Amino acid sequence: DVIRNEEIQAARLKLPILAEEQQIMEIINENSIIIIAGETGSGKTTQVPQFLYEAGYALKKQIGITEPRRVAAISMSHRVAEEMNLSTKEVSYLIRFEGNVTDDTKIKFMTDGVLLKEMQTDFLLTKYSVLILDEAHERSVYTDILIGLLSRIVPLRNKKGDPLKLIIMSATLRLADFTENQRLFKVTPPVIKVEARQFPVTIHFNKKTNENYLKEAFSKTVKIHTKLPEGGILIFVTGQQEVNYLMKKLRKAFPLKHKDKMLEKEKEIGAEDDESDDEHDDFDGRKNKRKRLKKQKIKIIPDINLDDYSLPNDTETLSDDDEEGGNLSSDEEDFINDVTVYQNAQPLWTLPLYSMLPSHKQQKVFKPPPVGCRLCIVSTNVAETSLTIPNVKYVVDCGKAKVKLYDKVTGLTSHVVHWTSKASANQRAGRAGRTGPGHCYRLYSSAIFNDVFQDFSIPEIRQKPVDDLYLQMKCMNIDKIINFPFPTAPDLLQLKMAQRRLEVIGALKNNQVTPLGKAISKFPVLPRFGKMLALSHQRDLLPYTICLVAALSVQEVLLETPITKSSPEEQKELRQKWAMLRVQWAGQGNSLLLGDNCVLLRAVGAAEYANSEGKLQEFCDKNGLRHKAVTEIRKLRLQLTSEIKKNMPELDIIVDPKMAPPTDLQAKLLRQILLAGMGDQIARKVSLEEVKENEDKAKFKYAYRANDMEEPVFLHNSSVLRKTLPEFVIYQEIYETNKIYMRGVTAIESDWLPIYVPELCNLS
Ligand code: ADP
Ligand code: MG
Repeated sequence: DVIRNEEIQAARLKLPILAEEQQIMEIINENSIIIIAGETGSGKTTQVPQFLYEAGYALKKQIGITEPRRVAAISMSHRVAEEMNLSTKEVSYLIRFEGNVTDDTKIKFMTDGVLLKEMQTDFLLTKYSVLILDEAHERSVYTDILIGLLSRIVPLRNKKGDPLKLIIMSATLRLADFTENQRLFKVTPPVIKVEARQFPVTIHFNKKTNENYLKEAFSKTVKIHTKLPEGGILIFVTGQQEVNYLMKKLRKAFPLKHKDKMLEKEKEIGAEDDESDDEHDDFDGRKNKRKRLKKQKIKIIPDINLDDYSLPNDTETLSDDDEEGGNLSSDEEDFINDVTVYQNAQPLWTLPLYSMLPSHKQQKVFKPPPVGCRLCIVSTNVAETSLTIPNVKYVVDCGKAKVKLYDKVTGLTSHVVHWTSKASANQRAGRAGRTGPGHCYRLYSSAIFNDVFQDFSIPEIRQKPVDDLYLQMKCMNIDKIINFPFPTAPDLLQLKMAQRRLEVIGALKNNQVTPLGKAISKFPVLPRFGKMLALSHQRDLLPYTICLVAALSVQEVLLETPITKSSPEEQKELRQKWAMLRVQWAGQGNSLLLGDNCVLLRAVGAAEYANSEGKLQEFCDKNGLRHKAVTEIRKLRLQLTSEIKKNMPELDIIVDPKMAPPTDLQAKLLRQILLAGMGDQIARKVSLEEVKENEDKAKFKYAYRANDMEEPVFLHNSSVLRKTLPEFVIYQEIYETNKIYMRGVTAIESDWLPIYVPELCNLS
């Protein structure tokens, strides 16, 4: 029996879902697959696991709940344990790098990636009596794949007489993707709609859209706080760093007063806080006492084997707050420091919220602010649907979110800040109407909202490169991917082509993953680049290949014409200087044959050195590199190096500012490695005999014939290989301007073909 404390019971009873417990349980008992849809804050995540527990679903097996975000897995497990008066031994969580699961765990919160990993050893997930896939509307790739797999596992478990329930929980968005999908569920599962009290929220658009939304968010918050009646403020920005800047600035503007009075309160609500950047903790001298308090409270988390939960490309490493800590630039410091202090205003209790925030700090947002303070939470989009913050009356929405972008050439991910969807913006606004009528201030114009915002965010599975998706799914032992019941299917033709490309590079054989394929899948890039990295690893060339892969993800690294305003003569002089430098970078022998890729490698290497000397901008201007491209490459190199290390902890690699140019032998090996990855992007020199009588032979001097293409493709005049005109080349990409050109060209030898791309030779 669950014995709850009074305060919690009172709070629960206010949730509309509680009145529907009986009906919900009846439907769950009578059906194997159920969808529960309800507004954020209606009590789905915290209450449904408790209903199941009290109905006996944890007597013999576990109740499992997946979350796409780690922050939700941790926070919700704590909350449910607290509500049920159970320990974290019984209501536990497991995310990629930590957890507190025990043999006694009854309710287990985990990330979707962790559950997928568990399926590799126990396909039927026999330790669970029920699985809840929470936040299904977020449409993370892993949750989508889990839905597809579980749609088949549930009937299998039923057939075996060991039934499993599947509950899909979602905000009230786009349910049709799950319900009107015959391939996924032959019989449409019952949908339980949970009502939530929602008060009206008045939307206020900005007249103009100011690019600097942090500044805008700050001034809007100042206005709300100094002019409008009581009520919490929730501000949406895009990442951890932005959260911290804005929080710091707001704390400066509205400092706390009456320190001692506050401290009393603070002891109650935040004694476990650690020493930190937190200015709220600036009660000098008392810190130590609090630290001691904290020490007594530390809980010991059992050791778990980290390696067991590693999954390449885990969404958990790609959360909304990927930024490296980094030092503040002077602009950013100015932003924080340039602030009027409102001495006489009411103090503002400003708290940060983002995924990577330690969980005891996350918990603070649920507690009331100290007496006399207004609550203000600066958050990433974790507060959009994953966590419900009480007593918010004002929402300030920058309208942007950080989205994951996959590079179309290499598959490397980067995060860019982009407008969110209408659905997300409305979710954010809704946060202001949970406890009473509220207001949402959108820091953008209604025209932008109407004309630029998409209705819904695109499911991640539609954005992920299919080659990568295909290989990852094969590595999860999913057999016929073309027939897989996706909630939203990737393009079928693309999947077929991906299968073929994976066979060409040797990652698949007869549609089965090869050992090479397994190695490839460990690298967080497209399989062809994964293969290059895997082979480089064998030959101690990883730092070079990492550098190349990063460089190839960025367009226009080497400039053609100077950007600076200078006279035509000066421009010409500079151009000639650059061209000479590039020829010098290309070197001789195998380096020269490595071609454009050697130039790129040397340019990025030299830039890294200049950067370590603090002279990057100067170096770029002088030598014709695009500064922004170079800094982007740096970021990707660091990211790729650290992700590879995460998957292969035994590796000893760094981004070395003194990376030597490749030796002749290394350059030759790099050419072979490039061929191994790019075997399907080979071009052969057009011989003059091939040129038709009536055509101008001179026009074909730099012409090549690429795979299946009718039209010839050309060596660009910036390519160092124009001098040597090799018989066979591989290229990274072709692009069309006035002619079709190849980008990133390297010479190869024809007798390497059967060795490095045997699959290609067999196929054709
Ligand atoms: P849903 O999953 O439907 O969005 P939740 O179950 O997350 O709803 O939230 C239900 C209620 O529980 C909300 O009012 C929320 O504010 C409250 N709540 C959730 N977590 C905590 C917590 N850690 N402390 C206090 N209240 C919480
Ligand atoms: Mg929820």
